[in-house]
Amino acid sequence: MSNPHRITSDATSATKGWHRSFFAVMAGLALPAMMWLSGCLSERICPPQGRVPVLMPLEVTGYCNCGLCCNWSRGWLGLGQAVIASGPNQGRPKAVGITASGTRAAHGTVAADTSVLPLGTIVYVPGYGYGRVEDRGGAIVGNHLDVWFPSHEEAVRWGRQRMYVRVWKP
Ligand SMILES: [Zn+2]
Repeated sequence: MSNPHRITSDATSATKGWHRSFFAVMAGLALPAMMWLSGCLSERICPPQGRVPVLMPLEVTGYCNCGLCCNWSRGWLGLGQAVIASGPNQGRPKAVGITASGTRAAHGTVAADTSVLPLGTIVYVPGYGYGRVEDRGGAIVGNHLDVWFPSHEEAVRWGRQRMYVRVWKP
């Protein structure tokens, strides 16, 4: 003979068990989702709190520290001091990997035309993440961003993309 009370209590405990695992799964999903939304926990650049960004259509290219991307070369069969390869400052020493702001280029370092996006502008580039304008480049003119990558291969893989970028000017 089955006891109707037992059945009810089994059903209740089964429901409770389901609830418990449901909340465990939700908590497991919510934490990474929150981290992904804030985007900041794993990155060195965060958007300014409480300020609404402007959406700007920009041409976004990738660059790295190499001579091809940053217009420098070495004399003495590639063994000498790095110097600026062309332009008005040709021949002047080049500090490789140091931005116009004096920071060391890293993921999140962005070069822009600083008459459009001044140094210190924070951007969010879809597929790249948060960045800060810390650098300039001779070829970076107008509505153009150059986002830094650790290798030339990755910079080339990014290519040239037109996209809407969230912009927080300083
Ligand atoms: Zn490069």
